[in-house]
Amino acid sequence: MSKDIGELLENDKVKISLDILTELDNGMLNSKLQEIFKKECNKKIKNSLDSLTSSSLVAPVLEASKIDPEKKCNGVTREERIKLVDTFKNMNMNVLGLLGADKAIVTSGGVLLKEVNFKTMQSKLYSNLYLVGDILNIDRPSGGYSLQLCWTTGFVAGTHASKSISS
Ligand SMILES: Cc1cc2nc3c(=O)[nH]c(=O)nc-3n(C[C@H](O)[C@H](O)[C@H](O)COP(=O)(O)OP(=O)(O)OC[C@H]3O[C@@H](n4cnc5c(N)ncnc54)[C@H](O)[C@@H]3O)c2cc1C
Repeated sequence: MSKDIGELLENDKVKISLDILTELDNGMLNSKLQEIFKKECNKKIKNSLDSLTSSSLVAPVLEASKIDPEKKCNGVTREERIKLVDTFKNMNMNVLGLLGADKAIVTSGGVLLKEVNFKTMQSKLYSNLYLVGDILNIDRPSGGYSLQLCWTTGFVAGTHASKSISS
């Protein structure tokens, strides 16, 4: 997403709409909130939503819904509950910018893959050059793929290079 957002930000403002509770549709969420507010009627609303989402998200969601966090559950109006459903399913945010290279986790772009022999990770343009890991133009999702990429390509390159040296 950061790559696409970075490109979009060059030309315009970028807004994100976040569905915080993808597993519940609007109707299911409305019923769930009614259930919670009934069960926890004397609790403050800020202390009653932890079962739905991470506790750190409760305050921003209530703020975006314009609901007083100190309000007791039995005082929440129908309009407020509907607004809360809407915020959970469609939380709008303006993107201010990317965090920059200091905070970046993976690279985007790199050496063209058609210039690399993947059996050896050798450059097709310079025989004494091996290209591995982040330097390759391979976009990947997060979740371990980057380490897998650098280890696998590093292993292939290292194995081939050491064979070339010893022969
Ligand atoms: C904060 C953070 C968290 C991450 N978490 C994950 C994760 O959970 N899972 C995952 O899969 N990936 C993760 N990554 C990405 C992953 O770490 C990288 O994709 C991977 O380390 C890339 O390996 P690499 O060997 O290609 O490059 P690098 O690890 O960047 O190695 C390049 C090396 O080259 C050296 N170097 C640079 N220029 C020169 C030069 N001119 N001469 C000599 N040496 C030079 C650098 O000092 C560096 O040691 C994370 C990255 C960051 C920054």
